[in-house]
Amino acid sequence: MSVQVSRRAVVTGLLLFAVAPAGAAAPMLPPGVRGLWCEGTVVARGTHAVVVGHHTPRRSLDEMARRADEAGRRVSVVLGAPVRPLVVVPASAAEAASLAGVGRVDGLAAVADGTRVIVVPEFFALLSPVGKDVVLTHELTHVAAGTDGVPVWLYEGFADYVGYRDSGLPVKTAAAELAAEVRDGRLPTELPGPAAFAADGRDPVRLARAYQEAWLACRFLADRFGEGTLVRLYRAARARGADQALAALGLSTATLTARWRDYVRDQLS
Ligand SMILES: [Zn+2]
Repeated sequence: MSVQVSRRAVVTGLLLFAVAPAGAAAPMLPPGVRGLWCEGTVVARGTHAVVVGHHTPRRSLDEMARRADEAGRRVSVVLGAPVRPLVVVPASAAEAASLAGVGRVDGLAAVADGTRVIVVPEFFALLSPVGKDVVLTHELTHVAAGTDGVPVWLYEGFADYVGYRDSGLPVKTAAAELAAEVRDGRLPTELPGPAAFAADGRDPVRLARAYQEAWLACRFLADRFGEGTLVRLYRAARARGADQALAALGLSTATLTARWRDYVRDQLS
């Protein structure tokens, strides 16, 4: 799973798009994926997912639609709301960066961008099947739940909580880099902030640990208070900020940090 560490970038938005009228012969594409390219556009539809590729082989686009449906199911179960995945598969990383409006996407397997997930084909292809499902579910969680107003540890941790929830991966495997630190007697001292998530390629191990630390903070909240409470906390944090959302559970950032550190030690030693 080492490749999946720097898979993501974040954007916001709700996953809503117009559905073609029943019986339409050639259903119109959702707005987020209309008119992307002048030629070479290939479309695959799953049960709920729409996947649009650029010169993408039909077989891999069909597989992507199947994975996107599964990712949508996983996100929908946690959020308690229907999710219609919209996935774009450009021809190259350069094209993915251009679509996402960012300078580069080197090392990222996919990014969330408004209403859609943009796959970075060269890097996505390097992932294991389990890793592909985790990444798509993670990105789709950003799209469906939004990230505005939420601290990075909470939105990345929440996306990984949903991403890993049905992956079958043991916690010590999914959090291997953090587990190595804990075994060496080092526990994180604070919830990871924006600097820890800097995907500048300088410290990929630190970046991996940042995701794992954030994941375990959300996993702790779900284990201790229940998954429904974690989801309500996330929505409350988006609406009113994380401090108020935590206060409703009798927590502050300081008390959460203390309990999260105990949880990290218990889970990974
Ligand atoms: Zn993310």
